[in-house]
Amino acid sequence: MKKILILEDEEAIRAFVVLNLKRAGYEMVEASTGEEALELFDRNPDIDIAVLDVMLPGIDGLEVCQKIRSSNQKIGIIMLTAKAQEIDKVAGLMNGADDYVTKPFSPLELTVRVDNLYRRVQMMKGIAIPDSDELKEGPFVLNVKSRKLTKSDRPIEVTQVEFQLMKHFLEHPGKAFSREEIFRKVWSDNFGGDRHKIVDVNIRRLRIKIEDDPSSPQYIQTVWGFGYRWGHE
Ligand code: CA
Repeated sequence: MKKILILEDEEAIRAFVVLNLKRAGYEMVEASTGEEALELFDRNPDIDIAVLDVMLPGIDGLEVCQKIRSSNQKIGIIMLTAKAQEIDKVAGLMNGADDYVTKPFSPLELTVRVDNLYRRVQMMKGIAIPDSDELKEGPFVLNVKSRKLTKSDRPIEVTQVEFQLMKHFLEHPGKAFSREEIFRKVWSDNFGGDRHKIVDVNIRRLRIKIEDDPSSPQYIQTVWGFGYRWGHE
């Protein structure tokens, strides 16, 4: 369900926003004060987008924006501003808002902005944002800078080819690759030998290094008649 938090102290505007976004297929969570909005935000971690009025009694929309943003990088935030609040627009964007809509606004204008931002938020969610040079998967950590691999904190020596294989699998956990795809990813095209065989041989060696039981591999799984896949829950 696409979930939106609306924070607006003027009931008529709030009702107008709720009505139109519900029609556009969103589930609405309503707050009339900043305090209430933050509480609802805590209780609903699945909120995709927050629509926040700037001018409010008590803590204002900009402060709410800042607080939400500091605990959630992926949520989309749209500020509602009055025309006289040009300066707030700028401040709002610097506080971590993604977009703003100036009052008065048409239902269509708001819905289009929300739809666009929702798409961006979904895209962001699909992209793993690496916070370091490390790829982590189960007990494995692969540092792509130092090229070191560990399993449950114990180092495993890998060759350049094995490093490339691990990197490729850890970047695409759960996805099946044909031998040809794996070959192209790891070896140079001017290799003259049997491509599929060299993939198989290196996978076998890598399994001996990383699997608990290489004869029944759980990490690098065989996809019969096709290739290999990194086993991933
Ligand atoms: Ca207001």
